[in-house]
Amino acid sequence: MAAQNAQILFPVNVPGSFDYSIPAGVNPARGDFVYAPIGQQMKLGVVMEIVSDEGTRELKDMAQVKAARPLPPEMLSFIRWTAKYNCVSEGLVLRMVMRSYKALEPSTLVTQFSPSGNFPAKMSAARHAILEKGGPFPARASEIAERAGVSAGIVRSFAAAGGMLAQSLPVDAPFGVPNPAHGGMALTPSQEQAAAELIHQVARRDYNVSLLDGVTGSGKTEVYFEAVAEALKSGGQVLVLVPEIALTQAGMSRFEARFGVAPAPWHSQLGDAMRRRVWREAAQGRAQLIVGARSALYLPFPDLRLIVVDEEHDTSYKQEEGVIYNARDMAVVRASIAKHSVILASATPSLESLVNARTGRYAHIILPERPGAITLPEIDLVDLKDHAPEKGDYISAPLIEAAKAVLARGEQAMLYLNRRGYAPLIICRNCGEKLKSPDTDSWLVEHRASGRVMCHQTGFSMKKPKACPDCKAEDTLTPVGPGVERVAEEAARHFPGAKIEIFSSDTAGNPAEIAARMARMEQGEIDILVGTQMVVKGHNFPKLTFVGVVDGDLALAGGDPRAGERTYQTLVQVAGRAGRADKPGHALIQTHQPEHDALAALAAGDRERFIGAELGLREALLLPPFGKLAAVIISGPDQHKTEGLAKKFVSLAPRADGIEILGPSEPPIGRLRGLYRRRILVQSEPKVNLSKYMQIWRKKAKIPSKYKLHIDIDPQSFM
Ligand code: ADP
Repeated sequence: MAAQNAQILFPVNVPGSFDYSIPAGVNPARGDFVYAPIGQQMKLGVVMEIVSDEGTRELKDMAQVKAARPLPPEMLSFIRWTAKYNCVSEGLVLRMVMRSYKALEPSTLVTQFSPSGNFPAKMSAARHAILEKGGPFPARASEIAERAGVSAGIVRSFAAAGGMLAQSLPVDAPFGVPNPAHGGMALTPSQEQAAAELIHQVARRDYNVSLLDGVTGSGKTEVYFEAVAEALKSGGQVLVLVPEIALTQAGMSRFEARFGVAPAPWHSQLGDAMRRRVWREAAQGRAQLIVGARSALYLPFPDLRLIVVDEEHDTSYKQEEGVIYNARDMAVVRASIAKHSVILASATPSLESLVNARTGRYAHIILPERPGAITLPEIDLVDLKDHAPEKGDYISAPLIEAAKAVLARGEQAMLYLNRRGYAPLIICRNCGEKLKSPDTDSWLVEHRASGRVMCHQTGFSMKKPKACPDCKAEDTLTPVGPGVERVAEEAARHFPGAKIEIFSSDTAGNPAEIAARMARMEQGEIDILVGTQMVVKGHNFPKLTFVGVVDGDLALAGGDPRAGERTYQTLVQVAGRAGRADKPGHALIQTHQPEHDALAALAAGDRERFIGAELGLREALLLPPFGKLAAVIISGPDQHKTEGLAKKFVSLAPRADGIEILGPSEPPIGRLRGLYRRRILVQSEPKVNLSKYMQIWRKKAKIPSKYKLHIDIDPQSFM
C-alpha cells in the first residue's frame, strides 16, 4: 500500500535528511518544524519534502508538528543550494538557519507599565520623574526605574495608585514600523537618476542585480535608501548587509534618521535575548528592515523584497569557518530563488561584480562624483627608495611635512597601517631566534600597551618574557618592524604636543569604545589617528584632510591572487577618508613598489588602468572571474599522516577536462592550534561545475576521525 513519508532534515552535520512515516492524525507540510525520534531522543527538524513510496520500508514514525510558522519554500531551496554550492551538508546550513530556534516559541509575557493619563492626588518628584524620563513606554518597572533614577518599587506603587497602567505584554517587543517617507535629503541630479534606476529594479518584483558603483563619499547610502523605501512601501522586508565593523551606533543612526525607527540589528555580538527577538520578528515578517552582518542572510524572512550588500567587495562577507560561504554571492542566489532585487554597493567593486556588470548580467549604476563641491582626495606615492625614513623609523620626511602642515591649519591627520600591536616580530639579539606561538606557525606580536605578546591567528597571549626562551639571555628580545603602537610612538616624537590616539581592535574592541573614539575624532579632540583597517569603513570625519599610509605594500606580499585588487581597494577606501567636508583631502602612500599596477593606478587616479591590467592578468592565468578556484584544507594532529592523507586525496581526484590540481603544499600557516595543515588548490575552466566535481571527489575519501577535510569554494584566504 502506498504510503506518505516525510523527509526530515535535522540541524546536525550528517549528509542529508531522514525518511519517517507519517502517523494517522499528523499532517506535516513542507517547511514545517517537526519532532522526530533519533535514537532515544526527540529532535526538532524541518520537513524538506513529503514523498510517497510503496510503503514496504520499515520507517519510524515522526512525532508532532510544532505550532510555528513554517520555513518558506524559498528558504528550503536556499538551504539546499547553499549546501550544494559550498560542499557542506544541508544539516549544517539548517543549523545556521535555526541558530535561534527558541524564537519558535511565542514570546513570554511580562508585566509592563505605561502612563495611565490619570494623576493620583499625591504626585511626588519621583512620580514626575517617571513620567518625564521613564519612557519609552510600555516598559518593565526595572527599566523605567533605571531611566527615571528611582526604585522599581516606586514605579509599582505609582501604578497601584492609578498613575500607571500595568499590562502583561511579550518580553520581545516588535520593532517599529519603518516609514519610507520619513527623512531623506535632497539628492543631486546624478543621485536622483541612480535612485530612479534602482527603484525601477525593485518595482519589477523579480530577480535582478544592480551594481551601485560610486566613488567614496558619493552618497551611495542615500541612493540605496530610496530603493529600500520602495521595497518597504510595497510592504515587504528589506535586508541590508554591512561589514561587521560598520555596524556601529553611527551606522544604525543613519537608518533611524531616514526611516524614523531603529532597524532590527543582527551580528555576532548580539545577546541571546536580542537574537531571539530579531529572529522571531524577522521570521514572522513583522521586522521589515534588518541591518546585519553576513549571517543575517540565513534568517528565515518570509517576504524579502530587497537585499543590499554594502561594501560588496569586503572580505568579511566570506565566512571562513563551519559553513564556508560568501554572503555576497549567496545573497544573489537567494534573490534568484525568491525572485527579488539585490543591490551591490561599493566604491571599489570586486572584479567579479564589475565583469558581471560589464557583460550585462548586472545593471551598472554609476555615481561619478561627490555631492556639492567636495572633491576626491589627491593621492601621491612616496618612493621609499628616495625617501627612506631615519634609521629605526617608519615615517618618511614627506609624510611628516604633510601632516605638520595639516595640523598647523587645525585639521586632522590619519596614519594607516594594517598591523595591530607594537611590532609584528620579536627576535633575540643574542641567538637570533624569533618568538613563536606555542601551537601555531606564526610569530608572536609584541603589544607594548598591555606588556604582552600575542598570536594573531589564535588569540594566544602571555606576558612578554624577560629572558629569551631559547638561549635564556636576559633583555635581548628586540621588536622588529612596526605596528600601530610603534607608529603612534614615533608620531609622538615628530609631532610633539599633538593628541594622538590608536584605533584598532585592541583599543576599540566593542561598539561603545568605537563610538567614543569616533566622537572624540569628530569633535576634534584627536589630532592624529593611527589606525588599522578598522578606520577604513564608513566614518565621516569632517576635519580629516590628510591620510598617510605607512606601508602601501603590506597586502601585496603572500600568495593571494587577489593581492593587487585588495591593495587597490583598501587604499582607495583609506584615502577616501580624507576631505569629506568642504576642505580637499590628500593622501600619501609609502611604497617600495611604485611601479606596481595597483599603486601606479592609484597615483594616476586611473581605475580603468588598474582594472584593465588586473583583468588581463586574471584572464591569462584563468583566475576568477575567468576561471574557478576551490581549496581543500586537510588538517590533523600528526604531520606525516596529514601529509599522507593530502597526497592520497589528490590521487583520488576524478579525471575531468579543464581541471588542474596544485599541491598538496604546506600553507603559510602550516600548523594551527596544534593541527598540521596541508592545502590543495583546484583550478578549473569556467564551464566546469566545480562544486559538483569537488563533491564527487570528497565522497571518495575516507578521513579518520581526528582529521578534517574542508572544501572552500572560491577561496579568499590562502593562509
Ligand atoms: P558613500 O556611501 O558613497 O561613501 P555616503 O552615503 O556615506 O557616501 O555619503 C557621504 C556623505 O555625503 C554623508 O555625510 C552624506 O550625508 C553626504 N551626502 C550624500 N548625499 C548628499 C546630498 N545629496 N546632499 C548633501 N549631502 C549628501
